[in-house]
Amino acid sequence: MSPDTKQIAVRLTQQIEASGPISVAEYMRVANTAYYGRADPLGKDGDFITAPEISQMFGEMVGIWLSDMWLRHRPATCHYVELGPGRGTLAADALRTMQRFGWEPAVHFVENSPAMRAKQLQAVPDAIFHDNLESLPTDAPLFVVANEFFDALPVRQMVSTQAGWRERVVVHDIEAGFAAMADACATDDLIPEQFRAAAVGSIYEICPDASSIMHQLSDRLAKQGGVMLIIDYGYTQPALGDTLQAVQSHKYADPFNNPGQVDLTAHVDFFELSNCAKNCGLMLAGPSDQGAWLLGLGIDQRAQHLAASNPDRAADITAARNRLVEPDAMGALFKILATYTQGWPQPEGFGLYPAQSAI
Ligand code: SAH
Repeated sequence: MSPDTKQIAVRLTQQIEASGPISVAEYMRVANTAYYGRADPLGKDGDFITAPEISQMFGEMVGIWLSDMWLRHRPATCHYVELGPGRGTLAADALRTMQRFGWEPAVHFVENSPAMRAKQLQAVPDAIFHDNLESLPTDAPLFVVANEFFDALPVRQMVSTQAGWRERVVVHDIEAGFAAMADACATDDLIPEQFRAAAVGSIYEICPDASSIMHQLSDRLAKQGGVMLIIDYGYTQPALGDTLQAVQSHKYADPFNNPGQVDLTAHVDFFELSNCAKNCGLMLAGPSDQGAWLLGLGIDQRAQHLAASNPDRAADITAARNRLVEPDAMGALFKILATYTQGWPQPEGFGLYPAQSAI
């Protein structure tokens, strides 16, 4: 066990000893803050890899999509905002593409990890950092991007027991370590009607931070104008299921082992995010499958062009395209949701596109 892990594990143990079991969300918040604060976990030698790290084509497609919205609406000024930008790769690829259309907005990164901020500055030296949404500018429309951001936010878990629904809480034992169990208080009121009678052992997840962030941003877009593109893995209708997962060195791990050393995520509830936007009066497009969206925006044409100008890299470009687009890779698991201010143009990429075979 590294000193880092020990420190976080000791801190969580002391917290549990002092004030009793903590929610799964609290455990996930402490563990992930330590995890992202410690070092950059992305890439082949890290724990996991994201779409922008697979190929520049991903950020370029995001840049094209944003440029199209910008060209058709033409706000006098506006801001690019990214939530949890990782290494800043998506932003660098999108901004380079946007520049080709003559668009160079101010860049704002919402990021709470000092280690990630240092990486992001290397990719986008002009970025302005924000700890949270509150300090984002209020003077002009926002073009917001969030790729694999919402899945890192802490989830509460409810479990169905013989006695009714209960919150799952984390306990600690010197021998067994951390483990989750059902708390004593009833939480049936938090469960949607259709799931109240679900089988014992069923899990229902709630992500209060995701709802709050989506609500705040939607409120901003309704007032100042703008668009938001959310890309993540998740579900599009209310659902039961334990989606909390830990990944370390590209392999699944036990979420209750080694807090702060493994990446903890949960699937994103796109139904809830859509509702937050709708309740603020915004328009919606999607959620669509990532593969269909990328094909609709022309990833195949881009891949062909890139391969023609870099023949020695053609096989890698095809492999990256397939990984991003094909349904048995990231194409169907990842969803894309767009939300935008009423009166703004209808976004591209959300029509029905037939699945295409590999180039
Ligand atoms: N979007 C990037 C990285 C995804 S990893 C990519 O696609 O490659 C999640 C990112 O969100 C990291 O940069 C992490 O530091 C950041 N993050 C996680 N929780 C956050 C929070 N509550 N507030 C701000 N940033 C957060």
